[in-house]
Amino acid sequence: MLGAAAAGLTVTMCNPFYTPGELLHVLHTARPAVIITTPTGLSTLKEAAKQLDDKEQARIYKECGRVFIVDVTHDDYGLYDGNPQTVTPKSGHDGWLTADWKWLLGKPGFQMDGWSPEEVAKRVCFILWSSGTSGKSKGVVLSHRAVCAGVVTQRYGQQWMGPDEVEVAFVPFFHVLGLACVALLGPAMGVSIVVLPRFELELFLRLVEAHRATYIHMAPPVAVALAKTPLLGKYDLSSLRGCSSGGAPLAADVIRTVYDRLGVMIKLGYGSSEAGGITAQYADTWEELKPLLGNTGKPTPGLVVKIVDAEGSGRTLPLGEEGEIWIKSPALMSGYLNDPESTSEALTPDGWYRSGDIGKLDKSDNLQITDRMKDMIKSSGFQCSPVEIEGVLAGHPQVADVAVGAIYSPEDATEYPRAYVVPMDRSLLEKSVKSNKPCAELVALADELNKRVETRLIKYKWLKGGILFIDQVPKNPSGKILRRLFKDCKGIEVQLY
Ligand code: AMP
Repeated sequence: MLGAAAAGLTVTMCNPFYTPGELLHVLHTARPAVIITTPTGLSTLKEAAKQLDDKEQARIYKECGRVFIVDVTHDDYGLYDGNPQTVTPKSGHDGWLTADWKWLLGKPGFQMDGWSPEEVAKRVCFILWSSGTSGKSKGVVLSHRAVCAGVVTQRYGQQWMGPDEVEVAFVPFFHVLGLACVALLGPAMGVSIVVLPRFELELFLRLVEAHRATYIHMAPPVAVALAKTPLLGKYDLSSLRGCSSGGAPLAADVIRTVYDRLGVMIKLGYGSSEAGGITAQYADTWEELKPLLGNTGKPTPGLVVKIVDAEGSGRTLPLGEEGEIWIKSPALMSGYLNDPESTSEALTPDGWYRSGDIGKLDKSDNLQITDRMKDMIKSSGFQCSPVEIEGVLAGHPQVADVAVGAIYSPEDATEYPRAYVVPMDRSLLEKSVKSNKPCAELVALADELNKRVETRLIKYKWLKGGILFIDQVPKNPSGKILRRLFKDCKGIEVQLY
């Protein structure tokens, strides 16, 4: 990933557990010329490729003949369906790691070997995937300039990082948290990184002890695991000096418990793919942090945050008032890939990113995230688009109407998707009400809907928040789903997990 980016290529990363349908969406949108994958990823890719039209298949498999398989388990590199072809680097660019952050203070013109500042700002480095304010996942285009600026600004906010530090990393590099904070910032600051393919609590604790790890980045469910696990006493974790959690809110109680158990504070960060990394994060010492538990701390140096009237007047609100969080930063995305309409909704003509998040700033510039305007569910740190899940459920012949919303599980410190389904046969609702429990037909329907989701979508999009069968989806007169009214919906509940 780093090598390809440094060679001037555009790189997009995918979740390795995507289903073929989800991967297909990425293939259609990003149209890659080269694919690098693992043996497991290859079987998903083959399934997805079957659904591509002949022309597109030919482009990927024959014309390009460039699907590389990296078998990480055997340290073996293979090539699938085609002759070996090397990707010729366009030119060497190692300048970005040595970026001087003074450049941010009004000295544009950051220079890479052979590239003009305009090219650095224009050429695409990474494409991440985000549902934005609504709809299916979109390609978030980050230019080389945005990526460099992200490293530089975030470096300033991370006093702990340096050549003496060791991180055990499990946050995925295809997500902005892993990409910006670990894969880019870590090497840029000389941190040693031990990479875990996925999070396993005991293995992680063992590696922290073995490598004398000093820092970790995580999503809230891992913080909860650290607050609860009886395994802490089994390992020497005294090398740990701090942790960051990001991607979703984290309860103050969890932060306090981890501090009491491990003596390590968790800095909560607020960030997004569109903003190219962290927008705000906590102070560095427990004394400073303690009164702030529950908000996300100060904006990252080098970027500007303002709170704007969420009703659409564009008015900037005074300190203490709640509104939409707008961000201006050199690390912002240039837009959504081939989607000018969504881009102009997200980016204002004068360069602000409208985050779709609701929050407020206090007089010390601390940012508190209080709500979300956009149609997005954050499940275990990953984005789920309600529209995508609704699309899967709506195709079932016994579903008259459907909507999907988020339900928060304090126990797992995450939101889960929950479906609100109107059955074709509404008499099943009355039947269930009469018997005071879901009737057999509704249970069977819930089961079928659940299987439909499980086979088509990645695990974090599964309906862990259950299904509520209702007689009408709350909508406004023009047919827009009123998601804020889900909490008032009454119906027949079926839990699936
Ligand atoms: P992603 O691009 O997947 O990182 O998703 C970004 C979105 O996650 C933000 O726009 C917020 O809605 C949400 N988010 C990230 N960090 C936090 C946080 N600390 N508290 C609340 N929501 C957050």
